Amino acid sequence: MPTLVKQLRGIGGCTQPVRLDGHRVEHAVDTRTGEIGRVLHRLDSASLPAGNLLVRCNNRRATRCPACAETYRRDTFHLITAGLRGGKGTPDTVTRHPKVFATFTAPGFGPVHNRPTDRRGTVRACRCGLLHDTDDESLGTPLDPATYDYEGAVLWNAHAGMLWRRFSIYLRREIAKRAGLTQRDLADFARVSFAKVAEYQKRGAVHFHAVIRIDGPEGGDTPPPTWATADLLTDAIGAAAAHSRVDGPVVDGRPHMFTFGKQIDVRAIRSADFDGGQELTERAVASYIAKYATKGAETATGALDRPLKFLAELAQLDISDHARRLIRTAWTLGARKELEGLRLRAWAHMLGFRGHFSTKSRRYSTTLGAFRDARAEWRRAQAAVITEDEPDTTLVLSHWVFAGIGLSSAEAWLAASLEPALGTEGEPT
Ligand SMILES: [Zn+2]
Ligand SMILES: [Zn+2]
Repeated sequence: MPTLVKQLRGIGGCTQPVRLDGHRVEHAVDTRTGEIGRVLHRLDSASLPAGNLLVRCNNRRATRCPACAETYRRDTFHLITAGLRGGKGTPDTVTRHPKVFATFTAPGFGPVHNRPTDRRGTVRACRCGLLHDTDDESLGTPLDPATYDYEGAVLWNAHAGMLWRRFSIYLRREIAKRAGLTQRDLADFARVSFAKVAEYQKRGAVHFHAVIRIDGPEGGDTPPPTWATADLLTDAIGAAAAHSRVDGPVVDGRPHMFTFGKQIDVRAIRSADFDGGQELTERAVASYIAKYATKGAETATGALDRPLKFLAELAQLDISDHARRLIRTAWTLGARKELEGLRLRAWAHMLGFRGHFSTKSRRYSTTLGAFRDARAEWRRAQAAVITEDEPDTTLVLSHWVFAGIGLSSAEAWLAASLEPALGTEGEPT
């Protein structure tokens, strides 16, 4: 039993590990002759306590694998933090670079139930006449589903990634303009980097939260020019977002065009040292982004976290009528030849959005892959697991075939009794 405990510990609480059959043999290589020498290490899946090699699923979704999602959340937190105040290979001078936290929403597709507030922050009645509680199921759902623009809402999600790319190009242009430079010359003085996360609003529209930072010409290692301020960045973001548009498809004679909603929220991020309780801190931003990086469309669709195979499955799901209608719309539009490229059926459970949940520009900070490599390195020292790279003095011959997913009930029971310490490493949960 202790060996099985050890093997299960190695997957860090993953409940949906990939099971592999096969072997891995590590040979010494004679560095002079290049000949294969003695066997340094041999691993056979059949000899492992679980009968298979177990590899973490690495799913970022909390609804799919809580342990792997928690790892993903922590990694994202550290990645975002590194871009805000340095660390993990990014110099801590980035803390002085101008940076903001910006939120980009979708436009309206029809009135929804909400909790409007007046100037003093008092909650007023919704247009339907009711004063909704914060946990009211109807919040975010259309006042009149018959007139709500479901087609526009799904197609907007499907084009949101493209709209963001357009925005990031315009942003560089707007920054250059404010600095009195051409767009081409901007790169000689400054770089714009970002890390963003997609989140679903209750109404089912994707919106983006992004950390946007101005660096010097070589990225985070170089100081930004003196003209680069948080105010200039804020102003440029507003202008770029207002100009961003994507011409969409024509559906049944109706031309679609996509823009961001009017409410673009941009706030400067301050270092915790200067925080008087008023400003948005680096820590708050990092934990916010990390939290949403582990979510899918659940805020709008509840438990549906995987693609549908048949539309008929929709009837079995315990989801709101609004979510059902969004999914049905995506599925129906997905049958159209001219919308093929949007792959709306494959992404119907995501309400049409097929972009990445969290993305960052190359120079923002370290990568999630770097964290995974560091962990793999550590685990390799602890036990035999698959790793990508080997020192050149060894030759690794391995052959693995897929043998299944998940744990047997006995393994699951044992794994649950281990309950990995999901404590924090200093970040808020
Ligand atoms: Zn997992
Ligand atoms: Zn209402």
